[in-house]
Amino acid sequence: MKKININPIEREVDYIVLHTAAHGNKENNYDTSAEQINDWHLERGWRGIGYHFVIRHNGDIEEGRELERTGAHAKGLNTDSIGICMSGHGDYFDFTEEQYESLFELCIELSNKLNVPIDNIIGHRELNDLIEKGHLESQYKTYKTCPGKIISMDMIRKKIKEKIKKDNKKSKAYFLLSMFKGFGSIFDQLFKSNLIF
Ligand SMILES: [Zn+2]
Repeated sequence: MKKININPIEREVDYIVLHTAAHGNKENNYDTSAEQINDWHLERGWRGIGYHFVIRHNGDIEEGRELERTGAHAKGLNTDSIGICMSGHGDYFDFTEEQYESLFELCIELSNKLNVPIDNIIGHRELNDLIEKGHLESQYKTYKTCPGKIISMDMIRKKIKEKIKKDNKKSKAYFLLSMFKGFGSIFDQLFKSNLIF
């Protein structure tokens, strides 16, 4: 997986919205590229790809629209969100393990750099929940199943939270280890200079 580094942007972002390319059918799950989606969206008369990222079946993260530019992926929420599209068809096929891995990494990086709470990582269809909560006007109601009938957003948020906890524990362990190493080298110096032993 290519490591993606996110730089702070001017535009205020409150949500990360997840999508499926809905590319395929019961038998076929296509590995849609950002280039392909760019062509589709140009055909629709948009200014190129509406998503900011596309995650391929092998976990490769392809960049779409620049983060600083408002996306075209979730009517009503475009101005304050980032759009991520998963290659394939989420109504029939689960994301690949590699796709999930990259998605979690990318969401953690985006959440850190752009200050987006993990609970604000939502599936396209969850725009309806925002309407119910009164955060979004009812005209933006969607009938889409996006990011896919078989995709659980609760599971995705839970896994991301678990991963953050695990990473925090790891970095704490590294910190302690480097402190001990630091002590070790102080003892080394003292020993070498015959100040102790
Ligand atoms: Zn969608």
